[in-house]
Amino acid sequence: MARHGGGRGWYGKVLGAALGVTVLAAGASIWTAQAGVVGVASPKARTTASATLRSAVKPVSVTIAHASDQGARGVNITIDDGPDPVWTPQVLDVLREYGVKATFCMVGTQAQAHPDLVKKVVAAGHRLCDHSVSHDTTMDKKSEAYQSREILDAERMITEASGGVAPMYYRAPGGAFTPYSRKLAASRGMRPLGWNVDTKDFEQPGTDAIVATVERELPNGPTVLFHDAGGDRSETVAALRRILPRLKEQGYSFGFPVR
Ligand SMILES: [Zn+2]
Repeated sequence: MARHGGGRGWYGKVLGAALGVTVLAAGASIWTAQAGVVGVASPKARTTASATLRSAVKPVSVTIAHASDQGARGVNITIDDGPDPVWTPQVLDVLREYGVKATFCMVGTQAQAHPDLVKKVVAAGHRLCDHSVSHDTTMDKKSEAYQSREILDAERMITEASGGVAPMYYRAPGGAFTPYSRKLAASRGMRPLGWNVDTKDFEQPGTDAIVATVERELPNGPTVLFHDAGGDRSETVAALRRILPRLKEQGYSFGFPVR
């Protein structure tokens, strides 16, 4: 349930700070209150702790991240549009088989509908990314109020579904970022996230084509885009099964997008 990798430090600090507040205020468990499982803290304690947690969110850069925290030979596997009860478990199985951690860009309504899957993703050490509430790829043409709702509501839905683990990135649906949406996401600690390799797996081009696209385009940059929802993703699962061991053999290491 804890954040992993580079996120552990500050998250631990936030929880620690929040815990201190609650112990002083009510002696109740802030972990329980924050995770939204069973609210046992008094309303006063909860409000105080929430305020602490909110103010403790560490803003990140507003620029769109592509690089890997594993450096020049790093690869970031990113999985969009889920979670999906059929495909997400299969993707998780392949990732576990090869010991690969990935970033899951979740649609708010999907996360809300499948909280068990969100928790599994987090428990396996993967990272969460906010992919908006309704996956509107024309979001960059909409009002700031609309963009704000799409981003912040999805952040809340994903965080609640995960049991309190907030998304660390924001990927605009279809890449429809605006300066406003990047700034808003960054202020919430969610680094805007792009991609370098579009496998176009959603077009079902065949497993061979997906594998070939990754090999051809990986020199463009380390962040690779796959999908675990929105249709039959058996080609995606099969392609991952071939790509992951092959990239390992070629000396790549798998990581997370920089924050
Ligand atoms: Zn998407």
